[in-house]
Amino acid sequence: MAAQPSTIAIKLRRIREAYLKQLPAQLEVIRETLLVMDPKKPSAEDLADLHRRLHTLKGASASFGLGKVAAVADAGEQLAKGAAAGAAADAAWRRQMEAHLAKLTEEVAAVDQSQEAELRVKEVLDAAERSQSGSEKKIVFLCEDDPFQRQSFATQIGCFGFEVISFDKLESFRDAVRTSPPDAIVMDMTFPQRPEGGSEVVGELNAGAGTLPPTIFISSQEELPYRLSAVRAGSSAYFVKPLNIIELCSTLHAMTSSAKPEPYRVMIVDDDVNLANYHALFLQEAGMETLTVDQPLLQLMDALLEFKPDLILMDMYMPECNGMELAHVIRQMSAFFSIPIVFLSSETDADKQFQAMRMGGDEFLTKPIKPEHLVSAVAVRAERMKIIRSHMIRDSLTGVLNHSCALEHMEMLVAQAQRQGGEVCLAVIDLDMFKKVNDNYGHPAGDRVLIALAQLLTQRLRKSDIVGRVGGEEFIAILPDCNLATALSLFEELRKNFSAIEFVGGKELFAVTLSCGVASLSQYGSANQLHRAADQALYRAKAGGRNQVLAGSGEGEELA
Ligand code: GH3
Ligand code: MG
Ligand code: MG
Repeated sequence: MAAQPSTIAIKLRRIREAYLKQLPAQLEVIRETLLVMDPKKPSAEDLADLHRRLHTLKGASASFGLGKVAAVADAGEQLAKGAAAGAAADAAWRRQMEAHLAKLTEEVAAVDQSQEAELRVKEVLDAAERSQSGSEKKIVFLCEDDPFQRQSFATQIGCFGFEVISFDKLESFRDAVRTSPPDAIVMDMTFPQRPEGGSEVVGELNAGAGTLPPTIFISSQEELPYRLSAVRAGSSAYFVKPLNIIELCSTLHAMTSSAKPEPYRVMIVDDDVNLANYHALFLQEAGMETLTVDQPLLQLMDALLEFKPDLILMDMYMPECNGMELAHVIRQMSAFFSIPIVFLSSETDADKQFQAMRMGGDEFLTKPIKPEHLVSAVAVRAERMKIIRSHMIRDSLTGVLNHSCALEHMEMLVAQAQRQGGEVCLAVIDLDMFKKVNDNYGHPAGDRVLIALAQLLTQRLRKSDIVGRVGGEEFIAILPDCNLATALSLFEELRKNFSAIEFVGGKELFAVTLSCGVASLSQYGSANQLHRAADQALYRAKAGGRNQVLAGSGEGEELA
């Protein structure tokens, strides 16, 4: 069972208080370290020790919201680091370091015991409350040498529904991972005597075990060498202290969620069916979904629309038309502008290959190809393009399709339905009096309403339906193979559900309603007319008092 937020708040406050209490003693140790150093020629060990202590102080104080202390500790750390790296640790250096330590003492004394970090605690608690959903807990190993940060991070990550097991030493962490690996790891970078101890141990475990659970590094080091060493050790993410716990936990959720990512969908265009199937087999073995197109002129358009490939594997020479021409055609449709096209051909002439790339190819692979090469070439591009494409075609606030992509999909689905004699419904949805929401509760609250509507639409509609944001507060939904009556009752249900959502605006709760116009293709002749009819139905819904779903009234309306 998840702990009560209030007890968590108390716990966090206690940890922080304990940290503040020992701060002067911690400073004293740092001062001693400097004091016992050989003033003329300090040893490398002493300098490294001083550096590490200042480094730890920086990370911990930042984590507990003591920005000023962290800033001075950072300056001291840089100075110590320079000397440890061989710069002169002369009398001037020493005076400078003493000045930093004096400033640190001042800042520590000036820390207001009560108010700082209180805000952050609240922010974390709010988010934690939202994320507690009672599902089984994922186990996270947290390895952090500093006791205060360790406790604080463990408590906060625990708020998000993870079971956190903490380690202060790299050795005990390593043994535990070997005995029973967790679902995810959160690893500090710097440990006593080992500036990159975290990545060393993770790298070692990775090399031994082959695969380690997803690992997030946390560090007050922002510099590239540390990030690089984390990447080399096999890290999945890198967070700089002070930690943004909400973001860290959302990354943990994403990494440990058991929902499998969608497999890559690869369309193989090759007139030689056997060869196409042979390649398809390798890709399927690697978990991808494939569709073979051996008669592109007949099948390509429908296949693009229905299969929605993430990547096209294209033969060069085929009867009727060649791969370069097809690539060019595909590139001219903006909905498929970003789809990666990989040529797979026995063509070895570099000029021809170059020409194929100019026609919009992303890569040229030559047959015969080793299965593992094919799989990795496809996987890398499919993944990268999946991300790039999602930025290009999606609205950044709500994640649904953007204006131009939504309309383009509508036209394609209409064309497809007309060819195959199917039905398509279009709904245009607009929030009621949305301007007032912004005016009364602020733009960010308005944004949350937009996100909620987009989420509701995507959750409630089928996978084959298309949702897009076509204006500030206007959305469209395109429902293939759906008749008008079904669409109407669906949006009526959605309208009711949406109006029941309570949003928080400052200290108040508020609700928002929507109006919706629905039309079906069979009543109208073209995508344009369909869109107009749905728009006009929406207009009537607004004029008739809002908060309602109306159908396009048939033949006459498009002429109005
Ligand atoms: P009606 O019921 O007639 O649709 O009234 P309305 O106030 O919803 O319509 P109007 O077109 O007058 O205002 C739309 C408002 O939507 C105005 C604009 O500030 C707001 N809006 C547009 N895009 C965004 C956005 O991305 N975020 C937020 N928060 N508001 C937006
Ligand atoms: Mg450390
Ligand atoms: Mg509106």
